[in-house]
Amino acid sequence: MELDRSGEGLTKEEWEAGWHWCNEWDGMLVGPDTDEALVCSCDHPAIEAWKQSGAGKKLQEELDKRSEEINQQNFLMEDDK
Ligand SMILES: [Zn+2]
Repeated sequence: MELDRSGEGLTKEEWEAGWHWCNEWDGMLVGPDTDEALVCSCDHPAIEAWKQSGAGKKLQEELDKRSEEINQQNFLMEDDK
């Protein structure tokens, strides 16, 4: 998918920080420090850099942990049947 490079409606600073209309999320506004940015595949340079940064990796770990907990809850619920 192509990155929307127009940055329409955003300031230059916001765009350069990684905020963009994300194709992955049907044009939703996505930026650094959001769960959405972790699954964004727009190749926005600032987002890619953020994913590799300590903050990005930490959020990824938290997200993994959260989905693990959700999986576990679903598992337990199925066990109840
Ligand atoms: Zn994106």
